[in-house]
Amino acid sequence: MKACVFTLGCKMNEVESASLMQGLALRGLDVTDKLGLADVYFLNTCAVTQEAEKKSRQAVARMRKFNADAPVYVFGCASERDAKAFADKEGVRFVSGAQGKGKILERLDAEGIFLEKDEAFCEMPAPKTSRTRAYLRIQDGCDRFCSYCVIPYLRGRSRSRSAESIVSEAKDCKAKEIVLTGVDVSSYRDGETDLGALLKKLGNVPARIRLGSLEAGVVTGDLLSAMKDAGNVCPHFHLSLQSGSNAVLRAMNRRYTREEYLACCEKIYRAFPSAAISTDLIAGFPTEREEDFEKSLSIIDEAGFSRVHCFPFSPRPNTVAAKMKDLPASIKKERMARLTDAAARAERKYIEKFLGKELQVLFEDDGGYSENYIRVYASGAKEGELCFVRLKGFEKDGACAEIGGIIK
Ligand code: SF4
Repeated sequence: MKACVFTLGCKMNEVESASLMQGLALRGLDVTDKLGLADVYFLNTCAVTQEAEKKSRQAVARMRKFNADAPVYVFGCASERDAKAFADKEGVRFVSGAQGKGKILERLDAEGIFLEKDEAFCEMPAPKTSRTRAYLRIQDGCDRFCSYCVIPYLRGRSRSRSAESIVSEAKDCKAKEIVLTGVDVSSYRDGETDLGALLKKLGNVPARIRLGSLEAGVVTGDLLSAMKDAGNVCPHFHLSLQSGSNAVLRAMNRRYTREEYLACCEKIYRAFPSAAISTDLIAGFPTEREEDFEKSLSIIDEAGFSRVHCFPFSPRPNTVAAKMKDLPASIKKERMARLTDAAARAERKYIEKFLGKELQVLFEDDGGYSENYIRVYASGAKEGELCFVRLKGFEKDGACAEIGGIIK
């Protein structure tokens, strides 16, 4: 892993950068002080003049030109004077200021940035599947290091299964629906094949394809076009959100804003008007104030979620969020109750839009899921049948329907 430590300003800054470089080298990183391609960037800023501050801010963009995916850690005087000017910039993961610069290595250790990248995807035999739904592993591990999540420490860095192996298992699979699963499906890449290209390769498989959980940033026009071209991908997007507040998203180290997330939903609805967008939301993150929580409530309606999975925050050992002051259990409980109510209302509102409409449902017994992930019940339905149905009304956790015909 290559680290670039870029320094502006005085001799003192140079000395401090040299100390950081030594700390990084001792952790096995290949370190340079020349601005160029790297996996992680460190920016030591200067505030001696306005011009020095401006150059410090501009340096973030210069780093991102080399590698827009690499995290940037900012320290030094300009970031002490105006931390927000740096924290708000895309790609900046941590701002320590001048006085907290000693915390950078501590923070990196906590984030597991030095974990070895496990290059190989672990192939395993295809599991025995029913004729209805099969889960197909395409990716493992995660590089995102959300501040509350322990998964990257347990499963290691992101690695993808070869497209060839995925297509081969999909072709052998007898199930009528294949769910592409992974810890971070969004980061799928096998050489030139990204997630969109993989979906196109799976377009010939005689099953409908459902995507596992995605990150908002990956839903580009190219991915949506690839889904359309493939023709067999369900218009169901599980887009993890976690909070509707930008301040909390930043503390969670999520790499989008509320506005960017909503723009992503808009893009999806334009491409697939009947799309289901489901999500996860955390109630009671340590830095969540009442006004932040209300933003999580209001975004449920704004995004038009079809389903919301709600979780109360619980600190996971060794994560950055575990070191933050936890909110009282009573606040978390009360927010969870409000979130759960809002989620139930959103789900009902989404189903209501489809009452009287025709959908395609793959039945597991007398119940199954439509392409846009509505749970549907119909009498006379048989396991493994893909049917046209017309929704008649609400039932249990979904809707009841009348079967109009069997597709296969
Ligand atoms: S929450 Fe998801 S994206 Fe974030 S670190 Fe955990 S596994 Fe990765």
